[in-house]
Amino acid sequence: PDSRDIAVRFTALSFQAPDSVQFRYRLRGFDTAWQRPDDISRRIAYYTNLPPGDYVFEVMAANNAEIWQTRAASLGVSVQPFFYETRAFYLLVVMLLGGLFFGGYRLLLQRQRHQGERRIANEHLREYSRRLEEASRTDPLTGLWNRRYLEGQLPADLSVLKRRLDKDPDCGLVTVFALLDLDRFKALNDRYGHGAGDQELREFGALVGTLVRAGDYVVRWGGEEMAPAAAEDALRRILNAVAAHPFRVFGDGENPLHVTCSIGYAFCPFRSGGGGSLSWEQIIEVADRALYFAKEGGRARCVGLHATGLTAPDRTVADIRSDTEPMLAAGELRRTEFVVEQPPADQDPGPRE
Ligand code: GH3
Ligand code: MG
Ligand code: MG
Repeated sequence: PDSRDIAVRFTALSFQAPDSVQFRYRLRGFDTAWQRPDDISRRIAYYTNLPPGDYVFEVMAANNAEIWQTRAASLGVSVQPFFYETRAFYLLVVMLLGGLFFGGYRLLLQRQRHQGERRIANEHLREYSRRLEEASRTDPLTGLWNRRYLEGQLPADLSVLKRRLDKDPDCGLVTVFALLDLDRFKALNDRYGHGAGDQELREFGALVGTLVRAGDYVVRWGGEEMAPAAAEDALRRILNAVAAHPFRVFGDGENPLHVTCSIGYAFCPFRSGGGGSLSWEQIIEVADRALYFAKEGGRARCVGLHATGLTAPDRTVADIRSDTEPMLAAGELRRTEFVVEQPPADQDPGPRE
């Protein structure tokens, strides 16, 4: 019953000429036409690899005058399907495949959902750490950047600037690092209280922030000191704008205060092109030295210290700080100074000296 190959032997009786008997045969259900063996003496029909099903083998004989029998001799043949050829098996396979596909699809959906959730969680985390990072570099009182931001930013800015200046010394890029210090701020604190001082600092910071270019920045250096890294001409604007600004430290209805600030600055980079340039920390020290001169010179003014063509390449910031006067005299340093154009008449708290 497992066999797919069949062979049917057949023969016919003939008393006239047994050798000239012809046969034709067919397998109904498989052949569409009668088959005639090439060799008329062959008395066997082969079928190999029959598909499962029911067949009827039929054979007819003809005598030497080609008179065919009227009825064929027949033999039923049945080929059983293997188990994997049954409908039930096909159904099972289809169901299994379907189940597998459906399961895989659900798994895929689940994975995508998980990935989506993870991505959102990651974005939240990134946003959170970005805010934390920003908060750690922001001054809470004024909302300006703090010293930590400057430490991260200034070295990078300085090296960009240096590269551009080295390439083209006449490119017109002039950036200064300035230290701004409110004049007699302690007295204001003492007279009107810390809250008034805080309010003044907030207004001071906001005002300075509006007076620098878009790419510049202002950091709160500490205490009542702000430090913009900006274009040189911004300093004149800041000096005059602070002096003209009505600080409403007691509220909108009350009389505003008028104060001044002093500014010290140095160029960034201190020496453009070549030898012995100062690091950004050293530039800050030079600016601090310049601020000292501004205070000493009477406040409400801006003082800059500049390197010149005569500045020896091996000059250190220690030299600049300790030998400022001799270096100025020798032309190794140049000093620019300008004062407030219109000092506030009712400056409060008034001068102590
Ligand atoms: P000068 O013109 O020489 O700068 O005089 P000054 O009184 O401003 O002197 P100084 O710069 O040394 O004073 C700094 C004062 O700033 C000291 C401190 O009480 C005050 N200060 C520092 N931080 C804050 C702050 O966050 N809020 C307030 N209200 N005051 C502060
Ligand atoms: Mg100070
Ligand atoms: Mg001060």
